[in-house]
Amino acid sequence: MAKLPSIMQQLASLVALPSVSSALPDYDHSNLDVINQLAQWCETLGFTVHIQCVDEERKKYNMLATLGRGPGGLVLAGHTDTVPCNPERWSSDPFKLTEKNKRLYGLGTCDMKGFFPLALAAAEKFKAQELKAPLFILATADEETSMSGARALATLGLPKARAAIIGEPTGLKPVNMHKGIMMEAVRITGKAGHSSNPHLGNSALEAMHEMMSELLDLRMELQQQHRHTGFSVPTPTMNLGCIHGGDNPNRICGQCELHFDLRFIPGMGIHALRNLIDHRVQRVAASTGTECERYPLFEGVEAFASEENSELVRLAESLSGHGAEAVAFATEAPFLADHKIDTVVMGAGSIDQAHQPDEFLALDQITPMVNILTAMIKHYCL
Ligand SMILES: [Zn+2]
Repeated sequence: MAKLPSIMQQLASLVALPSVSSALPDYDHSNLDVINQLAQWCETLGFTVHIQCVDEERKKYNMLATLGRGPGGLVLAGHTDTVPCNPERWSSDPFKLTEKNKRLYGLGTCDMKGFFPLALAAAEKFKAQELKAPLFILATADEETSMSGARALATLGLPKARAAIIGEPTGLKPVNMHKGIMMEAVRITGKAGHSSNPHLGNSALEAMHEMMSELLDLRMELQQQHRHTGFSVPTPTMNLGCIHGGDNPNRICGQCELHFDLRFIPGMGIHALRNLIDHRVQRVAASTGTECERYPLFEGVEAFASEENSELVRLAESLSGHGAEAVAFATEAPFLADHKIDTVVMGAGSIDQAHQPDEFLALDQITPMVNILTAMIKHYCL
């Protein structure tokens, strides 16, 4: 059977293929080159590859590669996109893999192109014929922005595997929990008028004052009702992040808009939270006679918690020697958990190095992670 390039050569190729995802079109880049490269390596190892178009216009794709057949099995999952970077703030070219001080520098080395060569190195040790359950390698688009790749999994026909590992950089520690994220806006439309006579208008700014009280009140309620000590901030949070309204001191403010985020713990869901917010929003509309509208700034990401008594988490704990913990960043895990797949987040590299200049993957994380993945494949697929 044909052999793959070394882990280092693979990572160098992946880093050299830009796949920035950004909400700003000027920075946004297709991930197709990365997908095609991964597809080629997977095919070399005997995987059957399916490439799914997520967004035709922006050329965003997912890849699902399958080795072996039958029910169950294990998914090794990662995202192919990176955040944008500021090359002038890097010590080396972010698109050229650079080895220095026992570290591999480059954009995406830890978050998380680096996961794929490690997953392939583990997969390379197995042949399709010896697998009793399939091994999947899943590569997604746009995790760093809209998570549109993970959202498209519903139509990818992702099989119901027994377990999934998402190889985000966790320093080889299993992560079994993260908060969910919502970002919402409330727009209030009143009536502008001359400030000398309040009857000439209806101030959106004053209505927003009431709205903010309602939202902070809701925050307090949520924090009293929901708590999980696994998180360093154990309660849900709400941040009123920005506000725009009015134009002149002598004019009654006709429109005011507030943007806020909500980070919520497992057990709370986006739909229910939006209902609670809407209830408050309508209350303000009724009491102020303004028009109040809430809309999402993005679709949101649900909170994630591994299955209770998860076999996968126990196995990950024993292989890594670390107890599972919660993290402060969101991942694609809730989308896989949604498919009733037992899911854990665990990978090489540290999130501290992600999303900033001189991102790196420490060389000493590579072999331990390949060994963990190899043991996982043996457990779930042999
Ligand atoms: Zn990531």
